[in-house]
Amino acid sequence: MNHLDEIRAKLSIEELVGGYIQLKKAGRNLKGLCPFHNDSRPSFMVSPEKGIAYCFSCNTGGDIFKFIQLTEKVDFPEAVKILADRVGVRLPSYKPEVQDEKRRILKANELTCHFFQEQLKQTPAARAYFEGRGLSEETLQRFSLGFSPDSFHYLKDHLKNQGFNDRELLVAGLLNQRSMADNNTYDRFRGRLMFPIHDHQGNVVGFGGRITGDGEPKYLNSPDTPVYNKSYVLYGLHLAKEAIKQNDLAILTEGYMDVITAHQAGSQNVIATSGTALTTGQLRLLKRYTKNVALAFDQDQAGMEATKRAVELAKEADLEVKIIMIPDGKDPDECIKHSKNAWFKAIDEAIPVIDFYFSVAFNQHDKETLEGRKAIAAFLLPIIKLYPTKLEQNEHLTRLAFELKTDVKFLWDDMQQLRPQRNVPPTGATQVETPPEKNRFSREAFLLGFIFNHPAHYPLVHQDLIDMTHFDPESKKIYTALKKVYDARGVLQVDFLNSELEEDALEQLKVYGLLVEQRYSDVSDSIVEKEILSLIRSINLKNIRAAQKEYEFKIRSATSTDERSQLLRRYNDILKLSSKLT
Ligand SMILES: [Zn+2]
Repeated sequence: MNHLDEIRAKLSIEELVGGYIQLKKAGRNLKGLCPFHNDSRPSFMVSPEKGIAYCFSCNTGGDIFKFIQLTEKVDFPEAVKILADRVGVRLPSYKPEVQDEKRRILKANELTCHFFQEQLKQTPAARAYFEGRGLSEETLQRFSLGFSPDSFHYLKDHLKNQGFNDRELLVAGLLNQRSMADNNTYDRFRGRLMFPIHDHQGNVVGFGGRITGDGEPKYLNSPDTPVYNKSYVLYGLHLAKEAIKQNDLAILTEGYMDVITAHQAGSQNVIATSGTALTTGQLRLLKRYTKNVALAFDQDQAGMEATKRAVELAKEADLEVKIIMIPDGKDPDECIKHSKNAWFKAIDEAIPVIDFYFSVAFNQHDKETLEGRKAIAAFLLPIIKLYPTKLEQNEHLTRLAFELKTDVKFLWDDMQQLRPQRNVPPTGATQVETPPEKNRFSREAFLLGFIFNHPAHYPLVHQDLIDMTHFDPESKKIYTALKKVYDARGVLQVDFLNSELEEDALEQLKVYGLLVEQRYSDVSDSIVEKEILSLIRSINLKNIRAAQKEYEFKIRSATSTDERSQLLRRYNDILKLSSKLT
């Protein structure tokens, strides 16, 4: 057994994929929302038997290694490394340079995280701050909270003693440098409360540092580095992902403290954007775990604007969105400290997006004045227009008419006169999903899929499939391998294909097998036989027609009578075959 097989034996595809997306049983396979395209119905198929996962809507997937390459955006050797680490398989050592740099940065971050945690223990003032915010010892540990000493070189000295150099630590964003010409590097984080930022796998990828007293900036964050891309990281996700899956809901906040306080209070499905406004990349990441998101942003003007933007992005990503309205204009952290019950009640009473827009419109404008009423209508009508059914539109318009003390008929008229909006629909109503392309897979692919799943029927192919000249190279390679195994053993056993086919071709064959399972539910023997025969027939026909054309061309361009009559004889054979088939 080589190390790849050893990893495969220890980690099944369903266990791996199940850590990223929710999977539901679908016959002999499992299904979930595809992590690689904007998927609204489960298109991602996982086959425990075949050891592959594949989406037939966006045609993406493969075995466990391919899956890691795709989700973690790493190359093959790095994917092998990640999985080997995970299941405890020792690899023969090889070190691609770039991956080595990433590993070193992660190591430096991890050491830094421990260093800051140690410093926190030794700094009563910093501990007092966290205690003052009501955080328990357990919470400090869980979020690896720390303190960066007010020094320009403590961390630098510590890491250099561990064998790191200035350049690496600059790239990692742990040190600063006044200018490129200046060789003096110094600690980036000084005298700050430290919030390590983990990726969803739990690696420390960066830090957020909050100042203890007055001063600017209040929060200082790590820059983007080879291991930290702010647009793809959600704070607290590594701790929240299980709870998010269990609750089928993610609560999205704006601050580190919101997440930490919420988790301590028992809301473990809470996460935050970290040091950036919400991005599509973050929502994609989130969608691996749930389709439902509730926004609990700050209740000030900036928070309202952020909510509006987030709603649009979330709808665009095809997530179901609700808004958590926290009483008395508090942010989640304040609310929870004030009353846990108020927080849980606000979650339970999360409102639909339309209610949020109504409340924004009526808060911003005075419905007692004509100007105010016009502004409210101007704000809400374009939003209502985006709802897909007249039923929904009418319901919201009726409510608006009631609030504005006007006739719903006028609102209908005004709404119909609006020009179609070009920007992102906040309701997601006009979302168009990429339609699955039904014909992307060839008949050969289907036939191969049937044979892979039901090898006992291979003799039908062996007898009836004629001429492989017009096959695409991939299918031809696979057919040739099937034939070779069958000729050698007198029976087709899929296990023996391993030695005849390259890894890629074998995986392709498995995808075809899964394709068949996806298109045909519950295949009985007689149906399989019928489908195989009809596929053979249509493939033969296609090939014969191609051959016919080819010979017609050859005959026209023949240079001698001898050549021509030879070609004509072949051509007549083809015609005979063709008439036998039709
Ligand atoms: Zn897909």
